[in-house]
Amino acid sequence: MMLGKRETGNRKRLVLAVHDVTPAHASKLAQVYSLLAERGLTRYALLVVPDWHGEWPLEQHAGFVDDLLQRQAAGAEIFLHGYRHHEAGFRRTWMQHLGVAGRTAASAEFYLAPPDQAARRLDRGLALFAALGLQPVGFIPPAWLYGPGLADLLRQRNVGLTEGFWAIANLATHRQVFAPALSWSTARPWRSHLTAGIAAVRRVLETAPDLVRVAIHPPDVHVPVVARSLRETRGRLVTMRQVVTYRDALR
Ligand SMILES: [Zn+2]
Repeated sequence: MMLGKRETGNRKRLVLAVHDVTPAHASKLAQVYSLLAERGLTRYALLVVPDWHGEWPLEQHAGFVDDLLQRQAAGAEIFLHGYRHHEAGFRRTWMQHLGVAGRTAASAEFYLAPPDQAARRLDRGLALFAALGLQPVGFIPPAWLYGPGLADLLRQRNVGLTEGFWAIANLATHRQVFAPALSWSTARPWRSHLTAGIAAVRRVLETAPDLVRVAIHPPDVHVPVVARSLRETRGRLVTMRQVVTYRDALR
């Protein structure tokens, strides 16, 4: 079959997200950024945490914020990603414990926060971003874990774009695009090997879906088996797909 010129317009797409963007991870993030820059990538999502574990308030790290502003100007999309990214101060009920089993050790901040506290943390995060010049396109809760009412809180604040493990979504238009996150785990060596194995299979399988989503966490670059897998996955997907922003993917 002859491939016409229109074929390029139909090229399969890829969204890339860098999670847990905080000055606490500055040196690992620098490595992630250079991994992306090697392929000339600038249109990735940055999931920024306002005050990582209550110890890394963004406003006290001017150089880090300047770097984010430059990346934003170059086409990166900023997402608010929790407030502290830590569930300290909240107690899991037994049912909640079951609900997040295997998903996260202690990052269920916006799953456990009661609506009034979730609202307060959202407002503080959004106000801080506004003061710093960061223009978030959406909100993604830590570990993709949503508490009851969180979607409504986001809609009330015109925070449109979000995602879960299985899909990305625009809360304003109700558009959802199925794209299970391709991510790695560095929590245990066996999990690193397992997720690298899954990535290897998915690199081959995922020629079909219109949209593939890759989630990169800063520790990924420090575990050799994961770093190698990440590099191979990036290499293969970027060759076959066009990197788009979340906004484009949800248009
Ligand atoms: Zn996170």
